[in-house]
Amino acid sequence: YGTEASLRKEDSTTDGTSFKGHDMLAPFTAGWQSTDLHPLVIEKSEGSYVYDINGKKYLDTLAGLWCTALGGNEPRLVAAATEQLNKLPFYHSFWNRTTKPSLDLAKELLETFTASKMAKAFFTNSGSEANDTQVKLVWYYNNALGRPNKKKFIARSKSYHGSTLIAASLSGLPALHHKFDLPAPFVLHTDCPHYWRYHVPGETEEEFSTRLANNLENLILKEGPETIAAFIAEPVMGAGGVIPPPATYFDKIQAVVKKYDILFIADEVICAFGRLGTMYGSDKYNIKPDLVSVAKALSSAYMPIGAVMVSPEVSDVIHSQSTKLGSFSHGFTYSGHPVACAVAIEALKIYKESNILDKVNSIAPKFQDGLKAFSDSPVVGEIRGTGLILGTEFVDNKSPNDPFPPEWGVGSYFGAQCEKEGMLVRVAGDNIMMSPPFIILPEEVDELISKYGKALKATEERVKELKSQ
Ligand code: PMP
Repeated sequence: YGTEASLRKEDSTTDGTSFKGHDMLAPFTAGWQSTDLHPLVIEKSEGSYVYDINGKKYLDTLAGLWCTALGGNEPRLVAAATEQLNKLPFYHSFWNRTTKPSLDLAKELLETFTASKMAKAFFTNSGSEANDTQVKLVWYYNNALGRPNKKKFIARSKSYHGSTLIAASLSGLPALHHKFDLPAPFVLHTDCPHYWRYHVPGETEEEFSTRLANNLENLILKEGPETIAAFIAEPVMGAGGVIPPPATYFDKIQAVVKKYDILFIADEVICAFGRLGTMYGSDKYNIKPDLVSVAKALSSAYMPIGAVMVSPEVSDVIHSQSTKLGSFSHGFTYSGHPVACAVAIEALKIYKESNILDKVNSIAPKFQDGLKAFSDSPVVGEIRGTGLILGTEFVDNKSPNDPFPPEWGVGSYFGAQCEKEGMLVRVAGDNIMMSPPFIILPEEVDELISKYGKALKATEERVKELKSQ
């Protein structure tokens, strides 16, 4: 986390201003306490590119943080925000008062989800808040049904569900836990479905999926099915290293979850709205969730907004029992913020009108095949992905069991080379992640592949050098 930043040597602008040792306690930034910290300061965006404060241009292969799906300067989103700001910059949605954009967005959003039926949408400001809301919905639901012990959640190792207390607890990344006395005791973690890293010799993908489903069932039985409320999963794991599910995984997992009356929450914060070439990850993997979390591409990140979608079954219980329990006493000042909703309505309109899925599906093979062609590199363990999301994992000897010494900083070195070439990637240890905007052009994918190739070549040289020392 943040190792790229610590490699940067200077940030002074053309007018001599420096942000060295700035005053911001920056998120997920290593060395924030250091006065030597030089941030990369981004000032402007245009299509698939961002520009730093010195005017240097970078191909933004992560679309901000997996979110600026429509790129950096979509005028329709700006117009939607401006119009709403002029008309009504804010009103809330508490106590049966609300605004037209929030009602309209709820309707539009529910129509986009067809993998299973969704009845209601609840608005948040972020993906983390969406997943925290899921936990409260599920608890309310089980309290309403008179099942006060059915409260535990099962998530997966290496998942990322956000960084608020509960979302960080659901996440399966140790860095989010041990420094903060997390996870909360009601959260359990089951296997990460990463075939390349975790399969046993001779095991097929299908057999691997069967084993993971059996492990999940054993965990449920050990804890007591009457105590397990919900299972949460990203269709393709994102921040944990871009891990698409192995064959038959979600079929087998869903069968177990259903058998024990456990709700399925699809965390679609990265996958929704076209990232995988389908409207939702649930469409791609035949997931039929009870609850769905979205954020990021919902507004193409032009305004902060997330949402939870709730199935008719869950929503009916909540409605019918609310005389007993009282209202769903949960919400944020900015739940259904009219400007964020107006932007999201416009983003959904653009996805539809521009046939965004066709766009993603026509560019994705070039992106995937072009990068996977580097799989033979001696420093690469695996290059994996689908649609417009891809991860690269660096290991020694092509083996998941031979990591490079962390002090070599192989991933960080690759990230720094990309940055030098004018390209931004996500680095987490020796994992590199990319999720370019849906509107990336073919010639920009060529540029991306060429810059990746150069950075990889330099990384191979660097590893050779380190090995010879
Ligand atoms: N879920 C997933 C799958 C995510 O990738 C993220 C953010 N990367 C979140 C939840 C949290 O979203 P936010 O940062 O908006 O709180």
